[in-house]
Amino acid sequence: MTKIRSSDASNMDDRRGQAGGGSSGGGFSIPGMGGGGLPIPGGMKAGGGLLGIIVLLAAILLPQLMGGSDSTQGAIAPASNQTTGEACSSELERVVCGVTNDVQAYWTKALPTYLGTKYQMTKTRLFNQPYPTGCGKASPETGPFYCPADFLVYIDLGFMQQIEKQFVGATSDLAEQYILAHEYGHHVQNLLGTNAKVQQASRKNPSKANKYSIALELQADCYAGAWVGDANRRDLLDSPSEIDEAIAAAEGVGDDRIQQATQGRINPESWTHGSADQRRTWFLKGFDTLDPSKCDTFTGLL
Ligand SMILES: [Zn+2]
Repeated sequence: MTKIRSSDASNMDDRRGQAGGGSSGGGFSIPGMGGGGLPIPGGMKAGGGLLGIIVLLAAILLPQLMGGSDSTQGAIAPASNQTTGEACSSELERVVCGVTNDVQAYWTKALPTYLGTKYQMTKTRLFNQPYPTGCGKASPETGPFYCPADFLVYIDLGFMQQIEKQFVGATSDLAEQYILAHEYGHHVQNLLGTNAKVQQASRKNPSKANKYSIALELQADCYAGAWVGDANRRDLLDSPSEIDEAIAAAEGVGDDRIQQATQGRINPESWTHGSADQRRTWFLKGFDTLDPSKCDTFTGLL
């Protein structure tokens, strides 16, 4: 179990209990969201373990390409409601609040140091009913995602509880925190203008869109790895073996694993996130180097 816990809700935007209704903002939709989302397979109760995790995680870490608009380079939209400390009460909430605060404290220092850009704080928005976002309507079955148009990380905690069920007899907090750190990696890409560049390049060269998407996702894995490495250096992890939890999560969302689990076959042409091997490799690159500028997944691409 990590020591990354917080009861400080100042970076949380708690919209639970609020029905989204209304419009979904722009015309964008996130693949896998809403009605057409990847279902959480019924098999996940069976023995769980790694395969369960793999199948479950298949539904998360959605491609970010569709989410943005050209107007994403602006000020962060202020979260309008007042979030109380109650957003960080339960153990799971404190795990989520912990990573939200710690990963942003990390980037506040690391982004200027390694990538020469000032970090802009944002929030993790909790929701538990269909909710309109700048990237389309989020449904509670949707896994955590980052919406570049809103500069916000969205998460339904019910989804995290499903992940916990997979780790029978083990903790799952670092797996959960890795997922959130990956989403914050997309926020960093948004601040760096990487998302916008990738969208532009994809429009210009649609046949390469999947390759760009994979590079974007692997870079977010690498950024998450750098944060986990930093947390490890600060002695916030229990034991080195805890890293395996995050690695398993990174591998579990590899396109090959997901395709194998959901379709029974592997088709690299349609990959958008990278293979289990690639995801582990880039996570470890961040973890080992502790240097986000080494997360150069776009070399030769853009
Ligand atoms: Zn992602």
